[in-house]
Amino acid sequence: MSIAIIGGGIGGLTTANALLRKGFNVQVYEKAQSLRSIGAGLSLTPNGLNSLNAIQPGIVEVLKHAGSLLHTLTLKRSTGETIASNPMTLMQQYGQPILNIQWSKLQAILALRLPSDIIHFNHRCVGFEQENDQITVYFAHQKSIQPDLLIGADGINSVVRQTLVGDGFPNFADRVSWRAVLQYHHELLPLNTSTLITTPDGKSFLLVDVGGGYIFWSAIAPSADDFVHQRATHPKTRVLERFAEWVEPVGAIIEATPVEEIVEQPICDRPPLKHWSKGRATLVGDAAHLVMPFLQQGANMAFEDAYELAEYLSAAPDIETALNVYEKSRIPRTTAIYDRTTAPDYHPYQADGKIMFNDMTEPSQMSQDEFETWLYGYTPSITH
Ligand SMILES: Cc1cc2nc3c(=O)[nH]c(=O)nc-3n(C[C@H](O)[C@H](O)[C@H](O)COP(=O)(O)OP(=O)(O)OC[C@H]3O[C@@H](n4cnc5c(N)ncnc54)[C@H](O)[C@@H]3O)c2cc1C
Repeated sequence: MSIAIIGGGIGGLTTANALLRKGFNVQVYEKAQSLRSIGAGLSLTPNGLNSLNAIQPGIVEVLKHAGSLLHTLTLKRSTGETIASNPMTLMQQYGQPILNIQWSKLQAILALRLPSDIIHFNHRCVGFEQENDQITVYFAHQKSIQPDLLIGADGINSVVRQTLVGDGFPNFADRVSWRAVLQYHHELLPLNTSTLITTPDGKSFLLVDVGGGYIFWSAIAPSADDFVHQRATHPKTRVLERFAEWVEPVGAIIEATPVEEIVEQPICDRPPLKHWSKGRATLVGDAAHLVMPFLQQGANMAFEDAYELAEYLSAAPDIETALNVYEKSRIPRTTAIYDRTTAPDYHPYQADGKIMFNDMTEPSQMSQDEFETWLYGYTPSITH
């Protein structure tokens, strides 16, 4: 079976690895001219790491050497007062820790496991057509291909999703984020820790050790618009305007970050879909289920998608059956994660973040402990 994956991000590269290991003929088509080196870090949680290990036994050990294991999560107010400092004990419970890693290192580790000639850069997909059990995928430079199966891993503004479902643009969630990775040392930022600083007005600043002397910071602030019309000032000016007065080292770390390293991005999500497969086309990652990043699950859900899709495709009698089982399994889980990020009582970046350590008050929701057990306890063990 020939499979075309649109998008060479975290989801596309993981899916390519999973499918190759099942013996499929996979090609990845990426619109960029090379792998994007995004100045960001990611927190990988036990559910995602267990899925990656099921796809490629041993890969998590490689990631652990490239990143940093989270031992302590500290919550602070913007004035510096510590609200809570919690040791992380997920390893004992779920067999995997929380692993913080630079995006570019994760991407390189995933790409290195693929034959280099299967990633086709400079291929911007512009849509596809399906007719009589045949699919034709079109690219910007007039080229087209006819794979047996098309997988859209083309992220937040997915063209494949647009052709498949046609549900328009993502929703702007009235918040903007800024992110960067830099080499930085400060006595307030010990190794193997993350520090989340929040204010009741919905601003947050996250500082994460991602290993090798590097720090990842991520700032989120409420915003009336997504800044697309305000390009006259630098992202660095905008983030400093909002966070410069916060407890050290927040101001110092923003000042020390080269402006070109700061990634500014509106926070968006999309209402969950009832179906995301049709005929010979399906979706993985943000293209399938875009959630706000509060639970740090976007990439982790993509790992779960990749694992399950490869398993179903290798076991089912035909593509349609495999895609049907795949979305039936994935949609309820990813919808529950979306629901959690939008639940009225769940405001991890408000009320000084206390809710993160307390139970939910809404009775229809699981308690925080129950939710975490359900989320991180996902075990990739599909039996055919
Ligand atoms: C502030 C913030 C913090 C986050 N923190 C975390 C975290 O800690 N943990 C976590 O798990 N997740 C986190 N996420 C979410 C995570 O970054 C995403 O869910 C994840 O990157 C999705 O991967 P993807 O491969 O689906 O999409 P992407 O990584 O966006 O990749 C899509 C790829 O498709 C390519 N592409 C797009 N359109 C086309 C086209 N038409 N033709 C060809 N190629 C195309 C793009 O160039 C890109 O390479 C965070 C997100 C944000 C905004």
